[in-house]
Amino acid sequence: MSTLSYLETLYPSWGQQFLMDEVVFEVKTEHQHLVIFKNAQWGTVMALDGVIQTTEKDEFVYHEMMVHVPLLAHGNAKKVLIIGGGDGGILREVLKHQYVESVTQVEIDQQVIDMCITYLPNHSAGAYNNPKANIVIDDGVEFVNRCTEKFDVIISDSTDPMGPGEVLFTSRFYQGIQQSLAEGGVFVAQNGVSFLQTGEVVTTAKRLGSLFQDVHFYSSAIPTYVGGIMCFAWASDNRALLNVDLATLESRFAAAGLQTRFYTPQLHKGSFALPQYILDALNNG
Ligand code: SAM
Repeated sequence: MSTLSYLETLYPSWGQQFLMDEVVFEVKTEHQHLVIFKNAQWGTVMALDGVIQTTEKDEFVYHEMMVHVPLLAHGNAKKVLIIGGGDGGILREVLKHQYVESVTQVEIDQQVIDMCITYLPNHSAGAYNNPKANIVIDDGVEFVNRCTEKFDVIISDSTDPMGPGEVLFTSRFYQGIQQSLAEGGVFVAQNGVSFLQTGEVVTTAKRLGSLFQDVHFYSSAIPTYVGGIMCFAWASDNRALLNVDLATLESRFAAAGLQTRFYTPQLHKGSFALPQYILDALNNG
């Protein structure tokens, strides 16, 4: 019997393909098409609406960079908000920071959470049962525009700006973020593979730039987010956070007792250095 293959459809004329050794779950949820399959190279893989979301093999790269950069820059985040993040990897990494008192995660699709707990258990690794975790099933844009609570760090781990994720790249969402961010806090968001989605970086910079004093991007190469480096948006009114020196990051990293496989304080500092084509796009934007 020939092996089925999964062709990512994020880009109309190009994409990565996975042989599916086994499709363990597939459903059209209320919000999106969800498929989880096994692949010899990447282990168990989850995709939403034709776009690879996470794999067992490389998930740590993305989750460590999305969490430890803002949390170690902040240094004393007690309340954290996650938008999206249904696979649980962001929640797992946030809870490794012992001084965090509560994490609220706003995920639109309960089935993503349920199926990832079942088929990708190491992503959340029990985080959904942690008493500090408060899981809310809602549209992230509605939550942040209604919420009166303030958060020290907000992380938007959303799908791409299509389908349910589209609203998480709008000015209305960023206005909600601004009103939900505590004084001195920082917001980070996945902002696409910049070589192929350069427009997303430029648009986000404009929209965040009208709301926050300090907007930047940092980057990392995530193996299965194909096309080169992924950019992460950074927005804060506290300019000091971006400029935390290496020695401080190193001491916070040591004090946190984090066992990472990708993040290092040196990489943290270096990740804010961007290629010229991105700087040009931002300047010309
Ligand atoms: N790391 C992936 C990436 O960079 O593309 C994202 C992974 S995570 C699975 C994306 C999550 O965003 C999904 O669980 C999806 O259900 C959720 N999501 C999409 N739109 C949303 C919305 N408007 N509000 C809350 N969660 C949303």
